[in-house]
Amino acid sequence: MRDPILLTPGPLTTSLATKTAMLHDWGSWDRTFNVLTAGIRQRLLAIIEDTGDYTCVPLQGSGTFAVEAAIGTLLPREGKLLCLVNGAYGKRIVQLTKIMGRQVSVLDFGETAPVDPQRVAQALAEDASITHVAVVYCETSTGILNPMPAISDVVAVAGKKLIIDAMSAFGALPLTVTGLRFEAVIASANKCLEGVPGMGFVLVETAALEQAAGRSHSLSLDLYEQWRYMEQTGQWRYTPPTHVMAAFDVALDQFDLEGGQTARLARYNGNCRQLIEGLQQLGLKIFLPEEIQAPIIVTVHAPVHPNWNFAQFYQLTKDRGVVLYPGKLTAAETFRVGCIGAIGQAEIATALDAIEYALHTMHISF
Ligand SMILES: *Cc1c(COP(=O)(O)O)cnc(C)c1O
Repeated sequence: MRDPILLTPGPLTTSLATKTAMLHDWGSWDRTFNVLTAGIRQRLLAIIEDTGDYTCVPLQGSGTFAVEAAIGTLLPREGKLLCLVNGAYGKRIVQLTKIMGRQVSVLDFGETAPVDPQRVAQALAEDASITHVAVVYCETSTGILNPMPAISDVVAVAGKKLIIDAMSAFGALPLTVTGLRFEAVIASANKCLEGVPGMGFVLVETAALEQAAGRSHSLSLDLYEQWRYMEQTGQWRYTPPTHVMAAFDVALDQFDLEGGQTARLARYNGNCRQLIEGLQQLGLKIFLPEEIQAPIIVTVHAPVHPNWNFAQFYQLTKDRGVVLYPGKLTAAETFRVGCIGAIGQAEIATALDAIEYALHTMHISF
């Protein structure tokens, strides 16, 4: 029986090659595994076209673990983080920074607008105590694309450090050391790089990390110690996600073979266009205007109809082999359909058929 197609922003549909890469066992002391880890670190740095200023620190856990580790290690105890928020993932950065007891200030743009770089410049001018700025590249809760080059410019001009949560963008949207100025970028294996879940990573300026000893509030989320240990021994500090790394390496082979970031973006753009056109033909309304829609995940207004029920809709589409995602908005009832993963035209067509079937079965017409 075929697995359902996951039209979700991670975990997502992975290729057969990626899945079968996990059919082995690796010892964490074994040289083969340490070579694999070192290779993946280099490959991730190559994606941002690093020329030697950055280092890659992989970390066990889901993406949020890596975000929490990066903030806790890079933001000095007496530092202050300005968080640019336009959705749930931006809010999560605020929450985890507060929990660790660091100073945080919030610039909130609501749920439907991208970050406005002018307002960021103004906030930085008004508060000299801000040391770092955090922003989400693609806010996965809606699919909003934030204007990264302009944000990176105003932060650099103000002399502050930028930390980018690029979880749902990395590998698909442009992100290089020449295109953007940043202290750190955070992502994970199981989004646009199409690996399996279980590890995140931080690409960080080595000079910044070198100054971060003893800053972390946490033992296991100390990015500095993770890095230092890995540099010294070639090993992970605690039990590594061996199978996840093996799958990730093979997923990166496929990323290279496809043609890297630009090719991946082209495929996701195709998926996104096909999806939006198909949904509109079914009479559904897309939440975001096209100009700010990233080709990662599409938020769709729930039909305004007495028969609408997301749980039933979810089950019916799942019966047809497609897994959708609930909405994550406070203001409007929505559901989400992902464009990312090892999927293309055929899978998007299957998804549109499943959605049509579900609406028909629920007697929802427009
Ligand atoms: C997926 C994601 C994360 C991490 O979420 P986890 O559930 O911890 O993997 C963080 N930020 C963004 C923007 C994401 O899309």
